[in-house]
Amino acid sequence: MGSNQRIGWGLIGASTIAAEHMIGAIRAQQGQDVVAVASSNAQRAKDYAEKHRIAGAYDSVAALLADPAVQVVYISTTNELHRDQVLAAAAAGKHVLCEKPLALNLDDARQMVRACAEAGVVMATNHHLRNAATHCKIRDLVQQGSIGRPLYARVFHAVYLPPHLQGWRIDKPAAGGGVILDISVHDADTLRFILGAEPVEAVGVSQSAFLAREGLEDGVMAVLRFDNGVLAQLHDAFTTPFAGTGIEIHGDKGSIIGRNVMTQQPVGEVLLRDADGEHAIAIEHENLYARGVARFCAAIRGEGEPAATAIDGLRSLATALAIAEACRTGASVRIDAHQA
Ligand code: NDP
Repeated sequence: MGSNQRIGWGLIGASTIAAEHMIGAIRAQQGQDVVAVASSNAQRAKDYAEKHRIAGAYDSVAALLADPAVQVVYISTTNELHRDQVLAAAAAGKHVLCEKPLALNLDDARQMVRACAEAGVVMATNHHLRNAATHCKIRDLVQQGSIGRPLYARVFHAVYLPPHLQGWRIDKPAAGGGVILDISVHDADTLRFILGAEPVEAVGVSQSAFLAREGLEDGVMAVLRFDNGVLAQLHDAFTTPFAGTGIEIHGDKGSIIGRNVMTQQPVGEVLLRDADGEHAIAIEHENLYARGVARFCAAIRGEGEPAATAIDGLRSLATALAIAEACRTGASVRIDAHQA
């Protein structure tokens, strides 16, 4: 596809994330449009299509995939559906941008990655945080040696799940609900991106305070060990409206403090603290989702890789599953990055 060629996107899932972020991010790109949506419910597909000015409204994935105007699909259904929908898209020769977590287990995720590779379609994972100007800057600072040897990371990603999202995430284990598959999976990807290292071990404890039901967790504290020796502490929750978000990377020569950066918005600040004092780092914010879409489209044209590849999605899932197992068993769980 040439850079001026039109790309038609099909949405699999009449979802909130597509409505709030992705439709706009896609339409912000030159030559790209959302041309179809598929829902399991015909009326919801029709209403969603009307509301968002989408030409095609389908009540099945098969019908959407048969629409010749669709070259690329964005999958944002509940998590148990991602596997079969990615496999169907690959079989139809469509490029796939899939939401996280890619699947509910690693075998399924591996099957998805393999199917896309064999079909010759690009598959990417919609990990938005590595598209934040803040996280890109933090990664640059770490890789340039600004804090010396990185030793510790702390991730503050305890938020309040907005009422309009208090559905399957808190009461449907079969849909891949719970804070670990929802939020810890993003932390894992962000840390891998910033540190350029792989998590190899997880411990953790979780909480079901008042939002989550059916055995799901609505809060977790976990520690990851990375293959470069870094220890990373994660705090993720659905239940704390006022905690604020952030990330810190601490090294033997300095510390990086990112405030209000674990978010969908292009906001937040980054500070570098070292022997010379504390410095605010200049950030040119840009829309996280639009940047991800732009990278994905470039990859389709053969220009580089998506911001977060299918393998990145596999590895973040492996880490989240290890945290979940550690919480369940009370044991330390090994993460085999190469196996993942
Ligand atoms: P939603 O609950 O909004 O949508 C998920 C599915 O629920 C839809 O596909 C839809 O099914 C169904 N649904 C939506 N609205 C209704 C309704 N009013 N009545 C009945 N069913 C409804 O989920 P999210 O948009 O929050 O999340 C979707 C996916 O995106 C998940 O995989 C999640 O992890 C991921 N996500 C990623 C984010 C990121 O920043 N990367 C942020 C938020 C979510 P149908 O399509 O059949 O109509």
